[in-house]
Amino acid sequence: MINLYSDTQSKPTRPMREVMMMAEVGDEQAGSDPTVNALLEKTADLLGKEAALFLPTGTMCNLVAVKTHTQPGQTILVDRLAHIVRMETGGAALASGVMVDILDGEHGHYSAEAVLEALSWPPSNYTPRPALLCLEQTHNFGGGSIWPLEAITAVTAVAREHGLSVHMDGARLMNAVVASGTPAADFAAPCDSVWIDFTKGLGAPMGAVLAGSSAFIENARRYKHAFGGAMRQAGIAAAACIYALDHHVDRLQEDHENMQRLVNGLRAIPGLDVPERVESNILFFSISAPHKNAVWFEASMRERGVLLSRIGERMRAVTHLDVGRDEIDAAVRAARMVMEAAGD
Ligand SMILES: *Cc1c(COP(=O)(O)O)cnc(C)c1O
Repeated sequence: MINLYSDTQSKPTRPMREVMMMAEVGDEQAGSDPTVNALLEKTADLLGKEAALFLPTGTMCNLVAVKTHTQPGQTILVDRLAHIVRMETGGAALASGVMVDILDGEHGHYSAEAVLEALSWPPSNYTPRPALLCLEQTHNFGGGSIWPLEAITAVTAVAREHGLSVHMDGARLMNAVVASGTPAADFAAPCDSVWIDFTKGLGAPMGAVLAGSSAFIENARRYKHAFGGAMRQAGIAAAACIYALDHHVDRLQEDHENMQRLVNGLRAIPGLDVPERVESNILFFSISAPHKNAVWFEASMRERGVLLSRIGERMRAVTHLDVGRDEIDAAVRAARMVMEAAGD
């Protein structure tokens, strides 16, 4: 199977498993797992923040961060396609009692004007208090789109003027770093909290790290505990994350090159509607040929050994470290055969 379903499905490599096996461990919950502590120091450094927290998943990073930044009844400003809104089971409402104020935009990016408009209701006894602005880098359902630093600076400046905190869902921040050449700490600087996921392109089996000021992380640690995210000999997992930072960051470039190869290949196939510009490792495309649809395409590709994911009528393909150039070419050939076999 050629797995373009998600970069979450990459398997830990043998050298990664070896460092996991050899990891020095302690009690993470008590703050005494040396490998976790090394990971936190390394990640805080990378993101230019004072402190960091190891969590089992990225979802829990968002859950804990929203909880730490808000009080029940307040609003968080999030774009329409954000993972926080679409894919986290309403956790922000469940755990934090916040309302979501949706921002519209392009590819998951909203403008400073949209933020200003959302904040333009004069504060009164009637209006809820906006507390937090969220942004996603890269943007998953925006098709791996990358917020340029200037755009981040513009939207966060408006938020700050209105007293909001800023949170970055940086599940694939390192893809943005590699693709843009902007350092992670620069992207993170306008944000009070930011996290990276180790289970996406970085290829670790579990773990995410949330970073921010020492005061923020101290509060976040209590919620991590409350939500059941405090672990024990988590150094086993942290070792894989350290390995990923050392060995799997620069290679994200290969995933982006493979994605360009895939995009170029698919664009040449009649009946597929493939965007011209794809910025990182995620592609959304659709089936424009008449009498054909995404459900059929997904099933036909699977029969030919290519796994894709589908959200409604949109197909998604994601490149990652278990998919090489040859697999990309094979996937393009499969897509061509599927579309040609169907006639028209
Ligand atoms: C995957 C993802 C998450 C959730 O991370 P998990 O580690 O799978 O819980 C959150 N935000 C974005 C943008 C993601 O792509």
